[in-house]
Amino acid sequence: MRFDQRHLLGIEPLRADEITTLLDLADQYVTLSRRREKHSSLLSGLTQINMFFENSTRTQSSFELAGKRLGADVMNMSMQASSIKKGETLIDTALTLNAMHPDLLVVRHPQSGAVDLLAQKVHCAVINAGDGRHEHPTQALLDALTIRRAKGRLHRLNIAICGDIAHSRVARSNLLLLHKMENRIRLVGPATLMPAGIDAFGVEVYDNMEEGLRDVDVVMMLRLQKERMDGGFIPSEREYYHRWGLDAEKLAHAKPDAIVMHPGPMNRGVEIDGTIADDINRSVIQEQVEMGVAVRMAAMDLLARNLRARPTELSA
Ligand code: ASP
Repeated sequence: MRFDQRHLLGIEPLRADEITTLLDLADQYVTLSRRREKHSSLLSGLTQINMFFENSTRTQSSFELAGKRLGADVMNMSMQASSIKKGETLIDTALTLNAMHPDLLVVRHPQSGAVDLLAQKVHCAVINAGDGRHEHPTQALLDALTIRRAKGRLHRLNIAICGDIAHSRVARSNLLLLHKMENRIRLVGPATLMPAGIDAFGVEVYDNMEEGLRDVDVVMMLRLQKERMDGGFIPSEREYYHRWGLDAEKLAHAKPDAIVMHPGPMNRGVEIDGTIADDINRSVIQEQVEMGVAVRMAAMDLLARNLRARPTELSA
Protein backbone atom coordinates (compact mmCIF):
# COMPACT_ATOMS: atom_id res chain seq x y z
CA MET A 1 0.00 0.00 0.00
CA ARG A 2 1.61 3.27 -1.12
CA PHE A 3 0.48 6.77 -0.47
CA ASP A 4 3.37 9.19 -0.61
CA GLN A 5 1.60 12.48 0.01
CA ARG A 6 2.20 14.78 2.91
CA HIS A 7 -0.97 16.79 2.20
CA LEU A 8 -4.13 16.23 0.20
CA LEU A 9 -4.33 19.48 -1.73
CA GLY A 10 -5.86 18.20 -4.93
CA ILE A 11 -6.31 15.25 -7.27
CA GLU A 12 -3.67 16.62 -9.61
CA PRO A 13 -0.63 15.40 -7.61
CA LEU A 14 -2.07 11.92 -6.96
CA ARG A 15 -1.02 8.81 -8.88
CA ALA A 16 -3.67 6.31 -10.01
CA ASP A 17 -2.31 3.70 -7.56
CA GLU A 18 -2.57 6.18 -4.68
CA ILE A 19 -6.20 6.81 -5.59
CA THR A 20 -6.85 3.06 -5.57
CA THR A 21 -5.09 2.67 -2.21
CA LEU A 22 -7.25 5.37 -0.70
CA LEU A 23 -10.48 3.94 -2.12
CA ASP A 24 -9.63 0.41 -0.95
CA LEU A 25 -9.08 1.72 2.56
CA ALA A 26 -12.29 3.77 2.37
CA ASP A 27 -14.22 0.56 1.59
CA GLN A 28 -13.10 -0.75 4.98
CA TYR A 29 -14.29 2.44 6.62
CA VAL A 30 -17.72 2.02 5.02
CA THR A 31 -17.92 -1.33 6.82
CA LEU A 32 -16.79 0.22 10.11
CA SER A 33 -19.29 3.07 9.75
CA ARG A 34 -22.16 0.62 9.27
CA ARG A 35 -21.42 -1.11 12.57
CA ARG A 36 -23.08 -0.03 15.78
CA GLU A 37 -19.67 0.49 17.39
CA LYS A 38 -17.98 2.82 14.93
CA HIS A 39 -15.03 3.93 16.93
CA SER A 40 -11.37 3.39 16.16
CA SER A 41 -8.45 4.84 18.06
CA LEU A 42 -6.24 5.32 15.04
CA LEU A 43 -6.00 9.09 15.40
CA SER A 44 -6.04 9.02 19.17
CA GLY A 45 -3.86 11.78 20.58
CA LEU A 46 -3.91 13.75 17.31
CA THR A 47 -5.61 17.13 16.92
CA GLN A 48 -7.70 17.93 13.86
CA ILE A 49 -8.73 21.52 13.16
CA ASN A 50 -11.46 22.28 10.62
CA MET A 51 -11.16 25.81 9.25
CA PHE A 52 -13.97 26.81 6.95
CA PHE A 53 -13.67 30.29 5.45
CA GLU A 54 -16.76 29.56 3.38
CA ASN A 55 -20.11 28.13 4.46
CA SER A 56 -20.52 24.40 4.41
CA THR A 57 -22.87 21.98 6.07
CA ARG A 58 -22.21 18.56 4.68
CA THR A 59 -18.46 18.76 4.08
CA GLN A 60 -17.66 20.20 7.48
CA SER A 61 -19.87 17.75 9.38
CA SER A 62 -18.50 14.89 7.29
CA PHE A 63 -14.90 15.79 8.22
CA GLU A 64 -15.91 16.23 11.85
CA LEU A 65 -17.58 12.83 11.98
CA ALA A 66 -14.65 11.19 10.18
CA GLY A 67 -12.14 12.58 12.68
CA LYS A 68 -14.28 11.62 15.67
CA ARG A 69 -14.79 8.08 14.41
CA LEU A 70 -11.02 7.73 14.22
CA GLY A 71 -10.57 9.05 17.75
CA ALA A 72 -8.98 12.47 16.98
CA ASP A 73 -9.60 15.59 19.04
CA VAL A 74 -11.61 17.67 16.58
CA MET A 75 -12.07 21.40 16.73
CA ASN A 76 -14.12 23.54 14.34
CA MET A 77 -12.91 27.09 13.85
CA SER A 78 -15.66 29.22 12.37
CA MET A 79 -13.70 31.63 10.23
CA GLN A 80 -16.77 33.60 9.19
CA ALA A 81 -16.85 35.23 12.59
CA SER A 82 -13.15 35.21 13.28
CA SER A 83 -10.21 37.54 12.97
CA ILE A 84 -10.11 37.02 9.19
CA LYS A 85 -13.01 39.43 9.06
CA LYS A 86 -10.85 41.83 10.99
CA GLY A 87 -8.13 41.69 8.34
CA GLU A 88 -5.80 38.97 9.62
CA THR A 89 -3.71 37.59 6.76
CA LEU A 90 -3.44 33.94 5.90
CA ILE A 91 0.16 34.02 7.12
CA ASP A 92 -0.92 35.26 10.56
CA THR A 93 -3.52 32.52 10.63
CA ALA A 94 -0.79 29.97 9.88
CA LEU A 95 1.39 31.27 12.72
CA THR A 96 -1.54 31.09 15.14
CA LEU A 97 -2.26 27.56 14.01
CA ASN A 98 1.34 26.43 14.40
CA ALA A 99 1.27 27.62 17.99
CA MET A 100 -1.73 25.34 18.60
CA HIS A 101 0.10 22.25 17.27
CA PRO A 102 -2.62 20.64 15.19
CA ASP A 103 -1.71 17.44 13.32
CA LEU A 104 -4.40 17.62 10.64
CA LEU A 105 -5.83 20.79 9.21
CA VAL A 106 -8.93 20.74 7.01
CA VAL A 107 -9.39 23.98 5.07
CA ARG A 108 -12.07 25.43 2.83
CA HIS A 109 -11.41 28.82 1.29
CA PRO A 110 -13.18 30.92 -1.36
CA GLN A 111 -9.91 31.68 -3.18
CA SER A 112 -8.22 29.18 -5.49
CA GLY A 113 -4.71 28.48 -4.24
CA ALA A 114 -5.26 29.71 -0.67
CA VAL A 115 -5.10 26.19 0.78
CA ASP A 116 -1.81 25.44 -0.99
CA LEU A 117 -0.38 28.66 0.40
CA LEU A 118 -1.44 27.78 3.93
CA ALA A 119 0.04 24.28 3.54
CA GLN A 120 3.44 25.84 2.83
CA LYS A 121 3.33 27.76 6.11
CA VAL A 122 1.98 25.26 8.64
CA HIS A 123 3.75 22.27 10.19
CA CYS A 124 0.87 19.82 9.95
CA ALA A 125 -0.84 17.80 7.20
CA VAL A 126 -3.39 19.82 5.25
CA ILE A 127 -6.52 18.62 3.47
CA ASN A 128 -8.18 20.85 0.91
CA ALA A 129 -11.94 20.86 1.55
CA GLY A 130 -12.54 23.09 -1.49
CA ASP A 131 -10.66 26.18 -2.68
CA GLY A 132 -12.47 28.56 -5.03
CA ARG A 133 -12.93 27.00 -8.44
CA HIS A 134 -9.72 25.03 -8.14
CA GLU A 135 -10.11 21.63 -6.43
CA HIS A 136 -12.26 19.64 -4.02
CA PRO A 137 -10.32 16.38 -3.84
CA THR A 138 -12.37 14.52 -1.22
CA GLN A 139 -15.53 15.17 -3.26
CA ALA A 140 -13.96 13.57 -6.34
CA LEU A 141 -12.72 10.64 -4.23
CA LEU A 142 -16.13 10.06 -2.67
CA ASP A 143 -17.70 10.25 -6.13
CA ALA A 144 -15.16 7.72 -7.39
CA LEU A 145 -15.92 5.33 -4.52
CA THR A 146 -19.65 5.67 -5.15
CA ILE A 147 -19.17 4.91 -8.85
CA ARG A 148 -16.82 1.98 -8.17
CA ARG A 149 -19.28 0.38 -5.74
CA ALA A 150 -22.28 0.92 -8.03
CA LYS A 151 -20.61 -0.14 -11.28
CA GLY A 152 -18.06 -2.64 -9.98
CA ARG A 153 -15.19 -0.75 -11.63
CA LEU A 154 -13.70 2.69 -12.08
CA HIS A 155 -12.30 2.50 -15.61
CA ARG A 156 -13.69 2.45 -19.14
CA LEU A 157 -16.97 4.01 -18.11
CA ASN A 158 -18.83 6.69 -20.07
CA ILE A 159 -19.37 9.52 -17.67
CA ALA A 160 -21.26 12.76 -18.33
CA ILE A 161 -20.51 15.76 -16.10
CA CYS A 162 -23.35 18.21 -16.63
CA GLY A 163 -24.14 21.85 -15.98
CA ASP A 164 -22.02 24.59 -14.50
CA ILE A 165 -18.56 23.21 -15.24
CA ALA A 166 -16.83 26.61 -15.42
CA HIS A 167 -17.40 27.57 -11.79
CA SER A 168 -17.09 24.11 -10.30
CA ARG A 169 -14.14 22.75 -8.32
CA VAL A 170 -16.11 19.49 -8.11
CA ALA A 171 -16.06 19.20 -11.91
CA ARG A 172 -12.36 20.00 -12.06
CA SER A 173 -11.33 17.42 -9.45
CA ASN A 174 -13.62 14.80 -10.97
CA LEU A 175 -12.28 15.45 -14.43
CA LEU A 176 -8.72 14.94 -13.22
CA LEU A 177 -9.55 11.79 -11.27
CA LEU A 178 -11.75 10.12 -13.87
CA HIS A 179 -9.19 10.90 -16.55
CA LYS A 180 -6.36 9.33 -14.50
CA MET A 181 -8.51 6.21 -14.10
CA GLU A 182 -9.03 6.00 -17.89
CA ASN A 183 -12.70 6.77 -18.32
CA ARG A 184 -14.42 8.50 -21.24
CA ILE A 185 -15.64 11.86 -20.08
CA ARG A 186 -18.25 14.10 -21.63
CA LEU A 187 -19.00 17.61 -20.50
CA VAL A 188 -22.56 18.70 -21.11
CA GLY A 189 -23.91 22.22 -20.66
CA PRO A 190 -24.26 25.66 -22.17
CA ALA A 191 -21.16 27.09 -23.87
CA THR A 192 -21.21 29.99 -21.40
CA LEU A 193 -20.59 27.53 -18.54
CA MET A 194 -17.67 25.66 -20.16
CA PRO A 195 -14.22 26.66 -18.94
CA ALA A 196 -11.75 28.17 -21.38
CA GLY A 197 -9.20 25.76 -22.86
CA ILE A 198 -11.38 22.72 -22.26
CA ASP A 199 -10.14 21.05 -25.47
CA ALA A 200 -6.82 20.37 -23.76
CA PHE A 201 -8.54 17.99 -21.31
CA GLY A 202 -9.29 15.35 -23.95
CA VAL A 203 -13.03 15.32 -23.28
CA GLU A 204 -16.08 15.45 -25.53
CA VAL A 205 -18.19 18.60 -25.16
CA TYR A 206 -21.95 18.78 -25.80
CA ASP A 207 -24.41 21.62 -25.37
CA ASN A 208 -27.36 19.29 -25.77
CA MET A 209 -28.41 16.93 -22.95
CA GLU A 210 -30.09 14.32 -25.16
CA GLU A 211 -26.90 13.81 -27.18
CA GLY A 212 -24.56 14.23 -24.26
CA LEU A 213 -26.32 11.61 -22.15
CA ARG A 214 -26.68 8.99 -24.89
CA ASP A 215 -25.56 5.61 -23.53
CA VAL A 216 -23.62 6.96 -20.57
CA ASP A 217 -23.10 4.86 -17.41
CA VAL A 218 -22.94 7.80 -15.03
CA VAL A 219 -24.77 11.15 -15.04
CA MET A 220 -23.08 13.62 -12.71
CA MET A 221 -25.10 16.78 -12.20
CA LEU A 222 -23.61 19.99 -10.79
CA ARG A 223 -25.12 22.84 -8.84
CA LEU A 224 -25.55 26.13 -10.65
CA GLN A 225 -22.97 28.19 -8.72
CA LYS A 226 -24.88 31.44 -8.62
CA GLU A 227 -22.55 32.94 -6.03
CA ARG A 228 -19.69 32.75 -8.53
CA MET A 229 -21.61 34.34 -11.41
CA ASP A 230 -21.86 38.01 -12.11
CA GLY A 231 -24.85 37.71 -14.43
CA GLY A 232 -25.36 36.79 -18.06
CA PHE A 233 -24.37 33.12 -17.93
CA ILE A 234 -27.83 31.63 -18.34
CA PRO A 235 -31.03 32.99 -19.92
CA SER A 236 -33.22 32.25 -16.85
CA GLU A 237 -33.48 29.39 -14.35
CA ARG A 238 -36.68 28.23 -16.04
CA GLU A 239 -35.03 28.10 -19.44
CA TYR A 240 -31.94 26.46 -17.92
CA TYR A 241 -34.07 23.72 -16.37
CA HIS A 242 -35.88 23.19 -19.63
CA ARG A 243 -32.65 22.70 -21.59
CA TRP A 244 -30.14 21.32 -19.09
CA GLY A 245 -32.09 20.24 -16.01
CA LEU A 246 -32.12 16.47 -15.54
CA ASP A 247 -35.62 15.03 -15.83
CA ALA A 248 -36.96 11.55 -16.72
CA GLU A 249 -37.15 12.36 -20.41
CA LYS A 250 -33.50 13.37 -20.69
CA LEU A 251 -32.32 10.56 -18.43
CA ALA A 252 -34.03 8.06 -20.77
CA HIS A 253 -31.15 8.66 -23.23
CA ALA A 254 -28.57 7.26 -20.78
CA LYS A 255 -28.06 3.52 -20.27
CA PRO A 256 -31.02 1.90 -18.47
CA ASP A 257 -28.80 1.21 -15.44
CA ALA A 258 -27.07 4.61 -15.44
CA ILE A 259 -26.66 6.16 -12.01
CA VAL A 260 -27.43 9.79 -11.16
CA MET A 261 -25.12 11.82 -8.92
CA HIS A 262 -25.10 15.30 -7.40
CA PRO A 263 -22.56 16.70 -4.90
CA GLY A 264 -25.14 18.82 -3.09
CA PRO A 265 -26.54 21.17 -2.14
CA MET A 266 -29.15 20.67 -4.87
CA ASN A 267 -31.29 23.28 -6.56
CA ARG A 268 -34.33 21.12 -7.22
CA GLY A 269 -36.18 22.25 -10.32
CA VAL A 270 -33.10 24.11 -11.60
CA GLU A 271 -30.44 21.52 -12.42
CA ILE A 272 -32.36 18.40 -11.36
CA ASP A 273 -35.95 17.24 -11.04
CA GLY A 274 -36.76 16.36 -7.41
CA THR A 275 -38.32 13.01 -8.38
CA ILE A 276 -35.13 11.88 -10.12
CA ALA A 277 -33.02 12.99 -7.16
CA ASP A 278 -35.22 10.91 -4.83
CA ASP A 279 -35.52 7.85 -7.07
CA ILE A 280 -33.64 5.16 -5.15
CA ASN A 281 -33.34 3.04 -8.29
CA ARG A 282 -31.34 5.70 -10.14
CA SER A 283 -30.02 8.26 -7.71
CA VAL A 284 -26.94 7.52 -5.57
CA ILE A 285 -26.95 10.94 -3.90
CA GLN A 286 -27.41 9.50 -0.40
CA GLU A 287 -24.62 6.97 -1.02
CA GLN A 288 -22.36 9.88 -1.96
CA VAL A 289 -22.91 11.37 1.48
CA GLU A 290 -22.15 8.02 3.15
CA MET A 291 -19.01 7.51 1.04
CA GLY A 292 -17.91 11.03 1.97
CA VAL A 293 -17.34 10.11 5.61
CA ALA A 294 -15.48 6.90 4.66
CA VAL A 295 -13.21 8.61 2.12
CA ARG A 296 -12.33 11.35 4.61
CA MET A 297 -11.50 8.72 7.23
CA ALA A 298 -9.23 7.01 4.73
CA ALA A 299 -7.54 10.27 3.73
CA MET A 300 -6.86 11.23 7.35
CA ASP A 301 -5.67 7.72 8.18
CA LEU A 302 -3.11 7.76 5.31
CA LEU A 303 -1.88 11.27 6.08
CA ALA A 304 -1.54 10.43 9.78
CA ARG A 305 0.58 7.37 8.93
CA ASN A 306 2.89 9.62 6.92
CA LEU A 307 2.96 12.16 9.75
CA ARG A 308 3.98 9.50 12.22
CA ALA A 309 6.79 8.47 9.92
CA ARG A 310 8.24 11.99 10.35
CA PRO A 311 8.69 12.31 14.11
CA THR A 312 11.41 14.95 13.95
CA GLU A 313 9.27 17.35 11.95
CA LEU A 314 6.41 16.84 14.32
CA SER A 315 8.45 17.91 17.29
CA ALA A 316 10.13 20.77 15.41
N1 ASP B 1 -20.50 21.20 -2.07
C1 ASP B 1 -19.74 21.32 -3.28
C2 ASP B 1 -18.63 22.34 -3.16
O1 ASP B 1 -18.36 22.79 -2.08
C3 ASP B 1 -20.59 21.53 -4.46
C4 ASP B 1 -21.37 22.81 -4.50
O2 ASP B 1 -21.30 23.63 -3.59
O3 ASP B 1 -22.07 22.98 -5.50
O4 ASP B 1 -18.02 22.70 -4.13
